[in-house]
Amino acid sequence: MNDCGPENGQSTGKQCRVLILGGGFGGIYTALELQKVLRRRKDITVTLLSRDNFFLFTPMLHEVATSDLEINTIISPLHKLLTRVATFVGNIEAIDLTAKSVRVSHGFDGHCHDLPFEHLVLALGASTNFFGLPGVEANALALRTINDAVALRSRLISFLEEANSECAVGERKPLLTFVVAGGGFAGVETIGGINDFVRDAVRFYPALSEVDVRMVLVTPDELILAELGPELGACAQRELASIFVAIIPDRPGQQLRQALQQRLEGTGADPKPLYTLNVNYWIAGEGLAVQPDTSTTRIRLFGNANWTLIGRDPSQTVVTTGHARAEDAVNVINTQYFSADLQTEASDRYLAEALADQITTRLAIFFRNKAGAGG
Ligand SMILES: Cc1cc2nc3c(=O)[nH]c(=O)nc-3n(C[C@H](O)[C@H](O)[C@H](O)COP(=O)(O)OP(=O)(O)OC[C@H]3O[C@@H](n4cnc5c(N)ncnc54)[C@H](O)[C@@H]3O)c2cc1C
Repeated sequence: MNDCGPENGQSTGKQCRVLILGGGFGGIYTALELQKVLRRRKDITVTLLSRDNFFLFTPMLHEVATSDLEINTIISPLHKLLTRVATFVGNIEAIDLTAKSVRVSHGFDGHCHDLPFEHLVLALGASTNFFGLPGVEANALALRTINDAVALRSRLISFLEEANSECAVGERKPLLTFVVAGGGFAGVETIGGINDFVRDAVRFYPALSEVDVRMVLVTPDELILAELGPELGACAQRELASIFVAIIPDRPGQQLRQALQQRLEGTGADPKPLYTLNVNYWIAGEGLAVQPDTSTTRIRLFGNANWTLIGRDPSQTVVTTGHARAEDAVNVINTQYFSADLQTEASDRYLAEALADQITTRLAIFFRNKAGAGG
């Protein structure tokens, strides 16, 4: 702030104006820092201009879109955050660098003001890059603002309602297929959130079944979360390989353990595993169709797995935990002449594979995030 006069707290008599454009991470942190270092400079006024009167914490946006968090947990009002910096809520229309002035519109009638400045901070963010992919911009919902998150949540609920209606028979699979474009942090976390939200919600819709739910993540990269780079990916892979899957009782438990071992490459072969994965696995069933003699002819099976990753250190630290859930349905056939029900066997296998996929993906994301945070 050299041309704003001395820094000894003495006023030069001439007011110096700093304008910060944008109330995102860049703008807010600049304002917070300036209100700290310029607290004695009565001759300097700092004003932050932004479209919204709040700061949005984008890393948790997907959690609002999938109802894990309430809106007010990820937004902070500017007036509360910035006690010594003035705020102006409006739409920035033009910047005149020669005249040192910013045109901003606001109010119900959208009238304009020209705000002069001596110093300008530009922190207006970026716009969503659709990479020119045909159809994506026209059909996709973006996830960048709080309104986007609310729109996504409404869309998810509308599709669940539509799929549940009687006239949607035959259309349920497409209605319950969700595609996320982009395998970066935001894409991976968003599809994870949508997956949990939709699978949890279908339980409450009588006509819907988890079997019809399909989640697709589209990415041109070989690895998801490519921004972490191959080194961190390899680091996460090594961590996965050092997981020992503890015994899971009963026949379905053995199938789940086998499916997990196949995915956690190297597990079992590693002479010194770093972690133990404990899984509490159970299958529950409910009747879907009943004959006149009250015997059940079709049942829905739910595979539930509560899992805990424990360090193999002396204190056996809990590293991370999670819950996975999968669903299938089988016809009940008269087993009088059969020693084993092949359908149930196939269903158990399907549940084990689906749960192993979910658990492995969660662990991979956990280790990649951990590696990214330098852990
Ligand atoms: C869903 C999602 C998840 C993310 N997760 C992570 C993460 O986990 N970790 C991470 O490091 N980064 C993450 N990011 C990226 C991170 O949000 C951005 O890097 C960061 O927001 C950039 O900060 P910024 O201040 O440059 O822009 P922004 O935060 O976008 O702020 C721009 C500001 O300018 C305002 N503005 C723009 N144009 C105008 C105008 N004409 N008039 C008035 N105001 C205007 C906007 O309203 C906004 O307040 C995520 C982004 C998204 C969308």
